[in-house]
Amino acid sequence: MVSTCRDHSSEFIPNKVLQYSLRNMSSSDAPQNNEKPTEPGKVYLVGAGPGDPGLMTLKGQECLRKADVVLYDGLVNPLHLRHAHVAAERTCRMEGPKGRSLNQEEINERLVAEALAGNCVVRLKGGDPFIFGRGSEEAAALAAAGIPYEVVPGITAATAASAYAGISLTHRNHASAVAFVTGHEDPDKVESALDYHELAKFPGTLVFYMGMHRLPRIVEALVECGKPSSTPVAVICRGAQPRQRVVTGTLLDIERQVAEAGLRPPSLIVVGDCVLQRDTINWFESKPLFGRRIGITRPSEQSDEVVRQVIELGGEPISMPIISTRPVQDWTLVDSVINRISDFDWIVFTSVNGVSGFFDRLWHKGVDARGLSHAKFACIGEATAQRLSEYRIHADLVPDIFRAEALATALVPHVVNKRVLWVRANRGRDILPSVLSEAGAHFEECVVYEHVDASSLPGEAADLIESGQLHWVCLSSPSIAENFANLLSPTAKEKIGTTTKIAVISPVTEQAALEAGLTVHAVASEHTWPGILDAIVAAESG
Ligand code: SAH
Repeated sequence: MVSTCRDHSSEFIPNKVLQYSLRNMSSSDAPQNNEKPTEPGKVYLVGAGPGDPGLMTLKGQECLRKADVVLYDGLVNPLHLRHAHVAAERTCRMEGPKGRSLNQEEINERLVAEALAGNCVVRLKGGDPFIFGRGSEEAAALAAAGIPYEVVPGITAATAASAYAGISLTHRNHASAVAFVTGHEDPDKVESALDYHELAKFPGTLVFYMGMHRLPRIVEALVECGKPSSTPVAVICRGAQPRQRVVTGTLLDIERQVAEAGLRPPSLIVVGDCVLQRDTINWFESKPLFGRRIGITRPSEQSDEVVRQVIELGGEPISMPIISTRPVQDWTLVDSVINRISDFDWIVFTSVNGVSGFFDRLWHKGVDARGLSHAKFACIGEATAQRLSEYRIHADLVPDIFRAEALATALVPHVVNKRVLWVRANRGRDILPSVLSEAGAHFEECVVYEHVDASSLPGEAADLIESGQLHWVCLSSPSIAENFANLLSPTAKEKIGTTTKIAVISPVTEQAALEAGLTVHAVASEHTWPGILDAIVAAESG
């Protein structure tokens, strides 16, 4: 995309903008003669798609990355907000004592005011902003105020939810047309814009948005107007999301089926023969972790990849960082080591953060790979070796088993009379120094990053555990296991082992979890985050 936020061509800043901004300023706010008024920022009306975070456009993500202000609606999956560098504000059912929804007029005013203040604004809306989304009203308000804006379309609920439910709205044997219909209007309203006689005759699939609360009346009106009561119907709730639920039936019995299943909004009603296909191409619900909520305890800045993997498996990732990491506060020791880095024969890493922390500091000090040409490198496991390879260095030694003991044993034959540097976190197991020093190594260590324990569980995670709705919590180190156990409320503790199961990265973490009073239900055989997910999949299917 060529445009940037503050790089507006002059035709985009019509006089109207200046008039508007002056009209809305008190005289004391008005620019003095020699002051240039702020150029208005651009507003992007962006479709976030239906829920799966992969179903937003690249252009939408790019807009989020450059936004100064993000306003999002209640249908938007909060995972999208990770692309933004600013805190986003929800426009409906806001939390807190003053929490309330902004009405459409207030939203329009906010968009205009933020843009006039020079901000690049993203208005993020569920699905497509122009399909029953009132996006066009926001665009009209911006146009009226002379604010530059763009619309970034999104995947609307009808196409996404039907695809994820195994229904092709225009299967050539079943439908030559599709209609998106609002279910919000009362079919009995005299001045209704919808003619149910026409809808009943429509030669294709009908998809009703916002129709759940009127389902009985919608099906009744269609049948009264001549649609056969045997017409297949599907109601898709939370489509394209890990907790998608789909109920199928006919116009005759769908109301009862939906009531029995307890479906709620947001749901779509799909009416037509294409619904029959679902039995053969229902691909999404057969994913191995479909419907399972998985608690991810990693620091949030490191959880992108595992979030992606959980979604890929059909699960719902719940971010619940139990520790965070930060660079050491005092670099004196590290810098003194870097100054004599050519003295070391081996450099040993036991975490990906250690690799990044060390190489970032080296770079900062003006040293690059040439300064390390004499050294050999050891890594505790594949993930650490992979991070090292990102700095274009091969690991000379990676033990088969991801354990400090295995690393120490593998290093022993190589370190007699050698200088060994261990790059580490402030916490960790202290096996390497004793084993390697005893083997005759000249051993040194330096701490490049620190762990900081979370002081409470994130509210959402705590609520989900207490209400029995979090299916798994993944623990990836002994200190995470200990801190997680410490942060559990008595009610939450009771749920561990019943509704919430624990998966751990290794036997060492399992031991720490057991000592902290937790029950463990799955242990990764490959000691990585993908390994934890494999163990959960095996436990779920076992
Ligand atoms: N602009 C949105 C629609 C907003 S109207 C879009 O293009 O999708 C809100 C209605 O959309 C809801 O009442 C529901 O009928 C439908 N909807 C939105 N997301 C949905 C989802 N994930 N699953 C099923 N229906 C959804």
